[in-house]
Amino acid sequence: MDDKFHDECGVVGVFGHPEAANLVYLGLYALQHRGQESAGIVSNENGIMHHEIGMGLVADVFNTERLGRLKGLSAIGHNRYSTEGISEIKNAQPCLSQYSGGSLALAHNGNLVNAKEIRDELVSAGSIFQSTNDSEVIVHLIAQSKKVNFLDRVTDALSQIQGAFSLVLMRNDSLYAVRDPYGFRPLCLGKLDGAYVVASESCVMDLIEAEYLREIEPGELLEIDDKGIRSYFPFEKKPPKFCVFEHIYFARPDSYQFGGDVYSIRKQMGKCLAQESPVDADLVVPVPDSGVLSAIGYSEESGIPFEMGLIRNHYVGRTFIEPQSQIRHFGVKIKLNAVRKVIEGKRVVIIDDSIVRGTTSRKIVKMLREVGALEVHVRISSPPTQHPCFYGIDTPTKEELIASKKTLEDTRKYITADTLHYLTLDKMMEVYKERKDHFCKACFDGNYPVTFQDEDEKQMDLFAAKEE
Ligand code: AMP
Repeated sequence: MDDKFHDECGVVGVFGHPEAANLVYLGLYALQHRGQESAGIVSNENGIMHHEIGMGLVADVFNTERLGRLKGLSAIGHNRYSTEGISEIKNAQPCLSQYSGGSLALAHNGNLVNAKEIRDELVSAGSIFQSTNDSEVIVHLIAQSKKVNFLDRVTDALSQIQGAFSLVLMRNDSLYAVRDPYGFRPLCLGKLDGAYVVASESCVMDLIEAEYLREIEPGELLEIDDKGIRSYFPFEKKPPKFCVFEHIYFARPDSYQFGGDVYSIRKQMGKCLAQESPVDADLVVPVPDSGVLSAIGYSEESGIPFEMGLIRNHYVGRTFIEPQSQIRHFGVKIKLNAVRKVIEGKRVVIIDDSIVRGTTSRKIVKMLREVGALEVHVRISSPPTQHPCFYGIDTPTKEELIASKKTLEDTRKYITADTLHYLTLDKMMEVYKERKDHFCKACFDGNYPVTFQDEDEKQMDLFAAKEE
């Protein structure tokens, strides 16, 4: 399995604060849900870059000593989430390189769809890569650009790549934040004691008590230095294609993102689900934590009482993380337990945000029956996930996505539910009203917004690579 397709990540950057690295460290804590494989920070002390990086959670990677070494008034940080493939320190970010203009640090969230071609060209022209991740391609393109001015070099490099990128770049005396023209992945801007902060999600600003200013626009490049902040739109304009799955599952519910607050959107999706697929039942029970908000919405709309009939152990990782299915099956049991007192003798509606392989739902239905549920109805607050994501959400291959290979009825039988319903795409998109075309829904409808040179061939390459 080539791990370059597995980059769900969180990025943070701070410019002009005496506690830059500490703030970035806290920011990475707030973004831990976006990546648990590795964490890293690069700080800038008057042009000298300090680099601390490691495998694991933010709390495991950093200690007082490591943080103490991260001196300087600016810093950038990165959390990486790699669910399958080789987890290696060489793929951890931020990447730090030397080029003709000095040191350059980069933290990237998103996946590029033409990284392989560019990488092959660069390698045949003599470039030496240190990692297997997409992001290093960007560093090489910046370093090799013939443009003189750094901003032009960045524009030149980023104009050659296709796909999703929300990036933070840091060099000797400046920091840059940029979002691809479609805006697949989030990135926002804040201010703290005169310093600028950029982060994947607004919950970072809440934690460090920075003033939230705004989202960085799709296609916008921000340059921040001692003179202040300047905004550029150097790329060809594209229609916005925000990742709808950020709203469904990935982002924290206390974040504001893509022009909406995630909490309300998720809850609204639950209401839509109740309108579209009502059930005669006694209890609405969420799969914690992913189904909680849509279950609140479902309960409010249907009038069926909400109960926490499943309890999650928060000290184990997500089941999805474990690469071998034998371990994953075990993972669901270790993570969730049913509350007999709540469930026994009841007709239960279980709400989750999505079904990927079907493992979680199957285990949960079984667990609920074991503690005496009379009926178990499964309701999912998004449409069937049928297509892999190539823009930065980790999804397994098409083959492994249960909705791409089984009919609704076969899925229901597999998870052993009494009934099963997924929110339809049209109903879900009602939440966005006139903004429904602003979202990428490729995981549901297979319409990939970034077209590849030879789309069919590229798709096959990508599918094959994911299956390696
Ligand atoms: P599965 O057992 O494979 O069907 O996984 C379903 C569970 O994984 C649901 O509870 C989802 O909330 C969660 N999930 C969905 N997408 C992802 C993802 N990209 N990464 C991790 N977990 C996910």
